[in-house]
Formats: sequence, structure tokens, C-alpha cells
Amino acid sequence: MNNQNQYALKTMVHDKIWLSSPHMGGSEETYVQEAFDTNWVAPLGPNVDNFEKTIAEYVNESVYVAALSSGTAAIHLALQLLGVGPGDEVICQSFTFSASANPILYLGATPVFVDSEKDTWNLSPDLLEKAILDRMANGKKPKAIVAVHLYGMPYKIDYISRIAENYGIPIVEDSAEALGSAFKNRKCGSFGDIGIFSFNGNKIITTSGGGALLAKNEEIKKKAVFLATQARDDAPHYQHSSVGYNYRMSNILAGIGRGQMEVLDDRVAARRANFEFYKEHLGHLVTIAFLEEPEGFFCNRWLTCVLTPSFTYREKLRLALLDENIESRPLWKPMHLQPIFTQYPNYSDGTSENLFERGLCLPSGSNLSKDDLKRTVAIILKNR
Ligand SMILES: *Cc1c(COP(=O)(O)O)cnc(C)c1O
Repeated sequence: MNNQNQYALKTMVHDKIWLSSPHMGGSEETYVQEAFDTNWVAPLGPNVDNFEKTIAEYVNESVYVAALSSGTAAIHLALQLLGVGPGDEVICQSFTFSASANPILYLGATPVFVDSEKDTWNLSPDLLEKAILDRMANGKKPKAIVAVHLYGMPYKIDYISRIAENYGIPIVEDSAEALGSAFKNRKCGSFGDIGIFSFNGNKIITTSGGGALLAKNEEIKKKAVFLATQARDDAPHYQHSSVGYNYRMSNILAGIGRGQMEVLDDRVAARRANFEFYKEHLGHLVTIAFLEEPEGFFCNRWLTCVLTPSFTYREKLRLALLDENIESRPLWKPMHLQPIFTQYPNYSDGTSENLFERGLCLPSGSNLSKDDLKRTVAIILKNR
């Protein structure tokens, strides 16, 4: 039997349950239609302006938002705006998706990877300070820190911010997975010197592909937009005195974003309800552990992640789910273990390696039905 037939057979048995799939709210098409009707089919227009305004209002701090083509583009511009260039060192959380680190290489800089702590799975304050001191002793002060709210769980913001301030190093707050998360009632995206969001297809809301940069003043936002639109000088002809990029968001996609912003709070509530469902039905198992919110932390529960006792058990579970046409996924493989990044300095104590070996992301979409969740839980209980 060829693969296609096998797949057809399986889907006949059970519908596929995805890890995290797009979930439209309803008014997206209205805004996209508006763009067509007014012929704003361009990387600028009313949807882009409105989407930016809505994000700024949602984050509810004085942020200036630039809608871009991706979260990766936003990190790239953020690092460049903070002055990162060839030969510089940039500290980056090792336990993350590669898009947090790749832009460091785009700029000819060197990533320095730092491991996580166990309470939030994000940047360890102790190892961060150790890395900063060590790099400074080597004669190079890091130019920036890329800190990540992985799976929507905020990093230890007060500790990390204090260390960054003490040494005068700016933070790029990678909130790609944390739109809707908060720390002490303040929304993620507003804590770093520059924050970023992603609207990729698997994120909590999506524009199919897209991102945003959140600046602390209008001048930085303007610089971001300038660089994102080919760095055109103020002249009647096309003149350029710096290297630019084509990173602006399309007005069509911003229309999808406008519709998605209207349902963002519902999406957060649905993902948090998924987490609660899993915890309620699996929390008693000794083989399954959940990541709890520390006091003051609010996680959007983008993905519900569980820790199992071992790599072998995690794989057994993943394959048992796959066999029932249910998608699950190991936690992110740390950057310091990735073939493209092994040559760079890293400060690790085994925490993220251990999480990677034992951790599994369960189906977490806001569009999952109770039956989908029950099916998933049943397989895990059967393989306990
Ligand atoms: C998705 C993601 C990005 C990149 O966003 P894109 O929009 O896909 O370019 C960056 N960092 C993290 C942690 C992500 O999960």
C-alpha cells in the first residue's frame, strides 16, 4: 500500500487532529473584501493602519506598532535598530524556535546561547548574568538579549529586566508565541526595548503569515517602517543611502489580522480551557506533569505542553497519538544542540536538553472540539 492510500485509510478511521491550526473569526473576509473594493491591494493601506492601532490598544501601553511580513523580519529589524552589526555578540535564549536566533546571523553577529530555568522554561537569570560577565571578561559586552516567552509563558520579566538594565543591554522581547499573555496584568510585547509578535498560521491568531514590531517611541517605529520599505530617502526619485528590506505587511493580510484581533480574547480563553481540560483528566497521572503559572504570570497557553518521565515514554506517547491520526510534537530542540549553531558559545546546565527529551506538545488549537480533546486524552490514558 502506498503512503497516500495509507493516509486515506487512516482519515477514514479518524479525522486528523492538528496541533494548532488557523481559526477564523468571521469578519476577516469583510476586511479583505474592503481592500479589494477600494483597490488597496498593496503593502500599505487602511487595514494596515487599523491593525497596528488595534494591536497597540490591545497591548495597552505606549507602544508604536509596525505591521511586518513576519515575526522573523521583526526580530531582524529590532536587532538592527538596536545597533547589532558584524562582529557583535547577541545573547539568545537557547530553548526556542530557530527564528529567534537566525536574524543574529543575518546581521553577521555571533549568537551566545543561554539555558532556561525550570519555573517558566525561559531564560535563566543566573545563567544570563554568568554569560554577560563571562563575555565581558572576554572583552566583549553583548549588544542585545533575545528573551522569549516560550509557549506563551512569560519569562521571569522582573529578574531579566533588572539584569539587562544593570549592564545596560537592551532586550528584544520575542513574544511570537505570547500575544495575549501578561505579567502582573501588563501584556507581553511591551516589556522589552523592542517587542515582536508573529501571525504565522500556527500562532494564537494568524494573518496566514505576518508579524509586528513594537517600539517604545514613534521615531523607532518610523525607522522600522523605513527599513521595511527599501529604505527610500526623501526624494522625488528613488534614492537610497542605506540597505533596506521588503518587510512590510500587505493590506490584504492586515484585513485578516483585523478580523482576528476581534476574537483574540476568545482564542486565549479557548486555549486556556484546553489546558484545564488536559489537566483535569491527566493531572492525576504520575507520568504526566504540567507547567504551572507562577504568581503574577498569565499564560495564553498557546500550546499545552506536558513532561513525561523519559525520552522513550515521550516517543511512545507521540507515536500512539500519531497512530490515531493525532498530531503532537516534541518541545523545541534547544539552539545550542542544532547543527547550524553548535559552533557558538553556550551557557547551559542541561535544563532545556532535559525538557526537549521528555516534553510533548499536545493538540492545542482554539478550534478543537470536546470530542477531539476526549479522543486525545483517551489515547494518553490507554498508554499511561
Ligand atoms: C513563530 C516564531 C517566530 C517567528 O515568527 P514568523 O512569523 O514565523 O517569522 C519567532 N520566535 C518564536 C519563538 C516563534 O515561535
